[in-house]
Amino acid sequence: MSQSAIQLKCYCNEYPWGKQGSKSAAARIASKTPGTEFKIDESKPYAEMWFGTYPDLPSYVLETGENLQDLIDTNPEYYLGKQVLSKFGHSNLPFLPKVLSIAKALPLQLHPVSPREKLMYPDAETTQNKELAAKLHEKEPSHFTDPNHKPEIAIALSPFEAFTGFKHLADIEALLRLEPLQQFLPKGHKGPFTDQTLKAVVEKMLKASEDTVKRTEEALSALPGSAYGQHGYIAALLPRLQDQYGATDNGSLVALITMNYLRLAPGESIYIPADGIHAYLAGDIIECMARSNNVLNTGFCPRADRDNVDTFVSVLSFKPHDAKQALLPATSYKGSKKGFSKVYAPPMSEFDMLKTSVPAGETEILAPVNGPSMVVCTKGEGELVVEGKKVEVKEGYVFFIRAGVEVEYKTGKELELYTAFVQ
Ligand SMILES: [Zn+2]
Repeated sequence: MSQSAIQLKCYCNEYPWGKQGSKSAAARIASKTPGTEFKIDESKPYAEMWFGTYPDLPSYVLETGENLQDLIDTNPEYYLGKQVLSKFGHSNLPFLPKVLSIAKALPLQLHPVSPREKLMYPDAETTQNKELAAKLHEKEPSHFTDPNHKPEIAIALSPFEAFTGFKHLADIEALLRLEPLQQFLPKGHKGPFTDQTLKAVVEKMLKASEDTVKRTEEALSALPGSAYGQHGYIAALLPRLQDQYGATDNGSLVALITMNYLRLAPGESIYIPADGIHAYLAGDIIECMARSNNVLNTGFCPRADRDNVDTFVSVLSFKPHDAKQALLPATSYKGSKKGFSKVYAPPMSEFDMLKTSVPAGETEILAPVNGPSMVVCTKGEGELVVEGKKVEVKEGYVFFIRAGVEVEYKTGKELELYTAFVQ
């Protein structure tokens, strides 16, 4: 086996929000990954398959069983490349791709920014929270396990619904004029409605008692759909969220009234900035994030699992107020020699993601990149050629590709692959 393209064993976790049994794309892909001996239990939810070296659910070399990070650590420059090593200053794989299969809403969350990002992006919007991730890490290292930040992208594999970022201020203000919601405006509020007002509203919603949430949702349910204007979907989504988390979950109010609700078709993608509020609602996606497990949760999870509301609200980023700016369109990829790959390039440097779709009888060649790649095959079968060595590639197969090598894919049928890479 080539040491340039290393086939991996990767695994799935069973968070309760995952899709059941073989309905879960994460489980279907994991069940086709050689060497895992993973068999789908139709009675279990399967949430996330991970393709990184993060210790919670690491990848292993298929041939030897060695932890992939241990292998990288034997020769970081060979596997990650000089450029990536000096850029990140450590030998950890800097990104973490996943397949997520979502049956019900994930916790309402954000991922705090680190001081490191301040150095990398001195002008970024997100610098307002520059110290927070490190502070949290210092205070509670067991909870905030990583001083790195965690922006993420999500590419839809199936129809995908998500709450992300905040609605336009004028839209939120209009909704708050509805009688049941006026209580969440700051006392004596006269306007203008600013980000600070929104912050106070979100805080009030998150701190509301179970009883207040319940009564508010009852009153909202009694309103006609037309009361929500252009946000008529609220009337249909409220009972759906109540089915999932009951009628007393603060997350429903924040998500429905203040956040953007997006429906994506397969192939469409969103980008969540490092301190952006988000909650994924349903669908199968490929997700990729910077290597970190920092997360603040509130809503759509048991009260005991929620982080402090003051901390959560103090970290929130309120820009931009535009759902369209969350969209991350795929564009043509310079490194593709045959044009069968498109790139999703979020505005940050941890990683880019390629979608490669090779039709029957065709070949795709990807130019070498100055950093490591992680590839998962999501459809079809064919051949992967690196430095003259051929290996079979099929749905469920996962490969780590070292820095600086050209990659060729051939297929007689069809082949679909997602590649996260950094350089
Ligand atoms: Zn997230």
